[in-house]
Amino acid sequence: MKTTIIGYPRIGDLRELKFASEKYFRKEITADELERTAKEIRQHDLAIQKSSGLDYIPSNDFSYYDGVLDTAFLLGAVPERYTSLGLSELDTYFAAARGYQGDKGDVRALAMKKWFNTNYHYIVPEIDDETEIKLNGSKPFDLFSEALESGVKTKPVIIGAYTFLKLARYKGSKKAEDFAEQAAKAYTELLEKLAALGAEWVQLDEPSLVTDMTAEDISLFKSIYEKILADKHGVKVLVQTYFGDVRDCYSELCALDFDGIGLDFVEGKESLNLISKYGFPTGTVLFAGVVNGKNIWRNNYAGTLDIIAKLRGFTDDIVLGTSCSLLHVPCTLDNESKLSADIKKHFAYAAEKLTELAELKKLVLAEKPEETAEFVRNAALHSGSRIEGNEAVRQKVASLGEKDFTRLPEFAEREKIQKERFKLPLFPTTTIGSFPQTKEVKANRAARRKGEITQAEYEQFIEKKIAECVSLQEEIGLDVLVHGEYERNDMVEYFGECLDGYIFTEKAWVQSYGTRCVKPPVIWGDISRARPMTVRWSKYAQSLTNKPMKGMLTGPVTILNWSFPREDITLKESAFQIAHAIREEVLDLEANGISIIQVDEAALREKLPLRRADWHKDYLDWAIPAFRYVHSGVKPQTQIHTHMCYSEFADIIKDIDDMDADVITFEASRSDLTILDVLKENSFRTEVGPGVYDIHSPRVPSKDEIKTAVNKMLGRISADKLWINPDCGLKTRGTEETVPSLENLVAAAKEVRNENS
Ligand code: GLN
Ligand code: ZN
Repeated sequence: MKTTIIGYPRIGDLRELKFASEKYFRKEITADELERTAKEIRQHDLAIQKSSGLDYIPSNDFSYYDGVLDTAFLLGAVPERYTSLGLSELDTYFAAARGYQGDKGDVRALAMKKWFNTNYHYIVPEIDDETEIKLNGSKPFDLFSEALESGVKTKPVIIGAYTFLKLARYKGSKKAEDFAEQAAKAYTELLEKLAALGAEWVQLDEPSLVTDMTAEDISLFKSIYEKILADKHGVKVLVQTYFGDVRDCYSELCALDFDGIGLDFVEGKESLNLISKYGFPTGTVLFAGVVNGKNIWRNNYAGTLDIIAKLRGFTDDIVLGTSCSLLHVPCTLDNESKLSADIKKHFAYAAEKLTELAELKKLVLAEKPEETAEFVRNAALHSGSRIEGNEAVRQKVASLGEKDFTRLPEFAEREKIQKERFKLPLFPTTTIGSFPQTKEVKANRAARRKGEITQAEYEQFIEKKIAECVSLQEEIGLDVLVHGEYERNDMVEYFGECLDGYIFTEKAWVQSYGTRCVKPPVIWGDISRARPMTVRWSKYAQSLTNKPMKGMLTGPVTILNWSFPREDITLKESAFQIAHAIREEVLDLEANGISIIQVDEAALREKLPLRRADWHKDYLDWAIPAFRYVHSGVKPQTQIHTHMCYSEFADIIKDIDDMDADVITFEASRSDLTILDVLKENSFRTEVGPGVYDIHSPRVPSKDEIKTAVNKMLGRISADKLWINPDCGLKTRGTEETVPSLENLVAAAKEVRNENS
């Protein structure tokens, strides 16, 4: 019995990589200095893994920005517009990740997409007909050698060829299968080089195998791997899957000459069944993902030992591991100085999961595992109830029915009433809510946290910022204003802090994309609204202007999806509890004179089950009603907006319309505009604001660029339903780029307005 993990968080225990990278972007440190920090993080992480007793330690799980982008560079699949800038390798890489605007040129970043069902974003590789896939970079080799120098023979981890080709976006007429041959050759060379360096195992990540696969997908997968596995050059190849089960290709997977198959027994509902039904190939090692790589609760050893016992009925060659890379959990509990021991004992972050694996290994080998101290301690954690429940909330949620999910009058009638009320110009302009979280905004929050300023001083500062933000928006000429969200550290954490039932961590950062990290709060108990959350700020902001001020809330599904959820009640129950609290806030805002309320569901799509068959029954059937419940009680003249951070909802377009919001804004600038065709085809009735520029990049869009985007939209969306806005909140941007961007946006709107009336 051995142990492994699929990958370790790479940002550093205290986000050292984030801070160093950002300094590098601001030209405050050199590339060498950034590389030094990166190396220190890797060595630190390596040491932790080594001392935990982990048998197979991954390498190449490190990345400066994203592992898929790394793979694109490794395979030479990098669009010429980046390579031709003439930047250093590192800067070319960052140009593809973040866009580049400087003396060498002006290029946008590659698109970004949510990584399967997580809140991590990967960079979408772009492949055109001229792309030639061949082994190019040296990162996996360098990092393998680096670890070897520290005395650890690691298991290099690389995104597999099939998943890479499936995730790429094809710009020309060629498709994934046209690159299968080249990719197989590149991976063969990769194995050869790693073999030469002395690698024993190589892990190829193939999470795309847990999604719905067509017959063509399966044959693409087979044909790639038949070639790669034809000559492994003496290394053992592990095909690693995660985030679900491989029901569509299990027999093909088993028939291929892999030395190890990695399956997920946490999210993979069918994994155990597949093995029971079809067996497991002899001579192949089963890498069993039994420790949840996505949540922070302690593993339940009794349950896990049970799974392992079942697996041992089919094979004895088992390596215990995590269900997915630990990228999705924070680094270590060691830095949580404020949580009580009584709470901490229920948690396991990445470092603690390493201990769990070591303990599980020990228990599996023990003669009487139930009698070991580890088992007894763990069993105590999972016996009885951890919390005292909130009976009132439980009953309320249990009583909800169809009429609670229905807003009246129906959409078309409300639309009329609202047009009459607001009298907004054609193509109303607005933003998504947050304005730049400048140093001073963060410093104010930090000062309050440390007790350096009083609550009154803290609030005065926020009011000052709100006032500045309101006059800035009035000067720029936006139509529907926002207060800027200066009171918020984060769109989920802030609400969590105003809700009973939540627990906050101090250092539980998880990478969201590039240098952006989030600190998901933990749903510890039943949720209820402890106090008004935003009313004070929205009301103040509205008092400063005659224009409508949008109230700004985060929706229940997003709050749930961006928290570490409970595992002792269903997600549906938690979602309804949160929905009830947000509904109270919506009604409170309305009662306080706020006429437009935006309920962000930035993360609704990301937890959509990976398999279509599960979409409704496991998710949408409660997620959409939870959202509807939030706003079903408002007056017809109150306008409800929602916002989503992506536009990949073509396939759930009816469900999105069914949320029954009055307006939806979403990301569209980084992706092509096919979503607009889908809106049209489906006679989407909700008014829409597809983002006209990309806020994830520091570049300033020109007026003409925005006009072009709007005109494209106008071809597909009727003029009376189109809003003009950036594609997400502006909090990560600087004021220097925000102001000209919004000025260009308003100027573009005005011109298009003139041209269309
Ligand atoms: N209202 C939030 C903001 O503007 C929305 C952020 C998001 O969608 N991620 O920051
Ligand atoms: Zn967004």
